Amino acid sequence: MDYLPLFIDVRGRKVVVVGGGELAARKLRLLVRAHAAVTVISTVAVAEIEALAAAGALRRERRAFAAGDVDGSAAVFAASGDPFLDAEVSAAARAANVPVNVVDRPDLSTFVVPAIVDREPVVIGISSSAAAPVLTRRLRAQIEALLPARLGALARFAARFRGAALGVLPTPAARRRFWEHFFDSPVAEAILAGDVRRAHGDILPLLNRATAEAGIVYLVGAGPGDPDLLTLRALRLMQQADVVLHDELIGAGILERVRRDAERIYVGKSKGRHGLSQDEINALMVREARRGKRVLRLKGGDPFVFGRGGEEMEYLNRHGVEVVAVPGITAGVGALAYAGIPLTHREHASAVTFVTGHVRPGDPGIDWKALARGDQTLVVYMGLSNAGEIAERLVAGGLAAGTPAAIVQNGTRNDQIVVTATLRELGAVAERHAGKGPALLVIGSVVNLAHGSTNPESANPENPNRETPNRESQRAVAW
Ligand code: SAH
Repeated sequence: MDYLPLFIDVRGRKVVVVGGGELAARKLRLLVRAHAAVTVISTVAVAEIEALAAAGALRRERRAFAAGDVDGSAAVFAASGDPFLDAEVSAAARAANVPVNVVDRPDLSTFVVPAIVDREPVVIGISSSAAAPVLTRRLRAQIEALLPARLGALARFAARFRGAALGVLPTPAARRRFWEHFFDSPVAEAILAGDVRRAHGDILPLLNRATAEAGIVYLVGAGPGDPDLLTLRALRLMQQADVVLHDELIGAGILERVRRDAERIYVGKSKGRHGLSQDEINALMVREARRGKRVLRLKGGDPFVFGRGGEEMEYLNRHGVEVVAVPGITAGVGALAYAGIPLTHREHASAVTFVTGHVRPGDPGIDWKALARGDQTLVVYMGLSNAGEIAERLVAGGLAAGTPAAIVQNGTRNDQIVVTATLRELGAVAERHAGKGPALLVIGSVVNLAHGSTNPESANPENPNRETPNRESQRAVAW
């Protein structure tokens, strides 16, 4: 290691910055945040520095640098942009044994300033020892995205309860266990979700129980398939879960992001694999939660869109098990975006209906006639096997037989397929796609905007040549 990472307390201590340009200002912002007693030495300075000086946040010396300026400083920054002056500052600081940083000159510096991720009081410094600043910035962006926005609030909350934990839990080991437990608990999760009030209510019972925590079930939407569409909260919960219940809509790319040690239980119903009935799934969730487990019920798309999330929540509530729902991108939103089909469009559709096609169209329950409107987009879930009948009902209800329609199958996955047709042809096209993966029916003129449908031939719903193979295009756009 070329550098020793340190966090230095500069509160109230003299720190000298030589230079008055943007580079100097960048260092200053950091120093002011760390409450250093900053002196800026420069004949000219940008407006931001003058404003900070006017506000009393720093001392401004409008003159040339002199070697004696570095004396008694905790650190010196040379950011003048003048290589000769910067070298002079560096030499003076080193002669006086004062740590010095020269912007962009590690060879003249005795310390480097890391890129930081600031979740005060949690601060992460990242450095490539001046080897690759661009890499460092990229790492910072990645870490930024990884860390919950409210991590600082979580640390402050924990600080406030340290005394209480000390009082209730006598041994260091018990306290350590408690805090390990706390940061994985629903209380911490509530703070990260912005609900500090609830956390205040829940921390004391948690402290009293100290080790035996009651379990919880998270009903989590995993999106339509592409793992990049997981929410940050879903990912975090996946990495904390004890038990994961998943079904056929959850692909391998998502499952591999689940904590390695978590128990995975397949509860779906795909061919050749044993699944569970809804009653068995409900009972399993209650049993695992009562054992104190964090149970993740991972669902395709959004748990509350044709996902039985509502039923499961009711059941868990009735059985006194805490349950939290985490939204996901529903297939009707995600798959259509990847297919290039807008749900609404000022010239095509002023409304959207998500409807299940699982109920047989002849059965009472769905009023297809009422859905037969030309000014909206209809997205049918679980409708592939009933597509012909659905189309007939819509036409009988008054929708033109030439209305554009599409099938989006395996949406957002690598094998996504988008096929367009008219409402009249939809049943026949759907039959060819049976059993090849989850699919949505989309009905409405927004379909004309789908990727690959921009040429006049396919944009015209009455054109007889539209059943060409190139319209049955695989997802071709790199996302
Ligand atoms: N809760 C899920 C829907 C579950 S119902 C959600 O919000 O997306 C199952 C139906 O969803 C499937 O029959 C299909 O119509 C649709 N579906 C789910 N994933 C899909 C995908 N990747 N592509 C196309 N349709 C999908």
